[in-house]
Amino acid sequence: MRIGIAGIAGRVGRLLVQEVGLAGAELSGGTVRPGSTVRSPDPDVFVFKDLAALAAQSDVVIDFTHFDTVAVHADTLSGSGTSWILGTTGLSPQTQASVERAARHIPIVQAANFSPGVALVLDLARRMTLALPAEVYDAEILEMHHRQKVDAPSGTALALGHVVAGARGVRLDDMRESGRDGHAGPRGPGAIGFAALRGGQIVGEHTLIFTSGSEQLALTHRAFDRAVFAAGAVRAALWAEGRSPGLYGMEDVLGLR
Ligand code: NAD
Repeated sequence: MRIGIAGIAGRVGRLLVQEVGLAGAELSGGTVRPGSTVRSPDPDVFVFKDLAALAAQSDVVIDFTHFDTVAVHADTLSGSGTSWILGTTGLSPQTQASVERAARHIPIVQAANFSPGVALVLDLARRMTLALPAEVYDAEILEMHHRQKVDAPSGTALALGHVVAGARGVRLDDMRESGRDGHAGPRGPGAIGFAALRGGQIVGEHTLIFTSGSEQLALTHRAFDRAVFAAGAVRAALWAEGRSPGLYGMEDVLGLR
């Protein structure tokens, strides 16, 4: 299997080069941001002029780039027949719709977090939510990341929020309380709260907290090394080979659905 890496010079992109090798797959090459003077992280790895050229030489493209570029990637890849492993987060609803349109033509594995541990945490979050009624337990989601992160709350925090909302039979957009500041007023009934912290080089920490008048439960995941995302994305790439077009998640790759 030939795997291409969009964003090969990025923090996760560089680790993907190693993980593709460890998995014994063939690395077809990568792309860097258009106009960037950054070279390939490895002199043996070819940098293509654009995503279409990379896709033509790849069975699967793994994408850890920037939310601004995902809609263009969706158009390019949907006509290419190449599977797409999409790790880039912070997508607008319009960009997410372009991903869903592309999934009619190609297999896409999209995850806000490719760590297998987070897939399990999302499953546990659903089970906790079902056991803890919204009228009694307030749900809050706390995340912390490195100082360079550009989107907030993180994609994983939002994924946790969607799981809590789904298990409660409500829409996250109707219940979300993000970034309280100043005279924010009391917590809304059934609200799902978000707080985002930034600092240093923290890879990713997420905690889902349920608090009632008499007790508190917390479910925490801490990623210590970005290699966990890169390894999970390569695992998804191997799984995607030969799948029908559709939008899949890490829970499909791990058989948790
Ligand atoms: P990064 O900024 O270190 O790397 C992104 C790279 O993509 C940069 O080198 C940038 O120049 C490049 N890039 C931008 N536009 C491009 C384009 N059009 N074509 C090719 N390359 C392009 O960031 P990162 O920490 O590697 O994270 C990248 C993305 O992945 C972010 O959205 C981040 O939130 C997300 N992320 C997801 C997971 C997950 O498991 N799903 C884990 C970590 C990070």
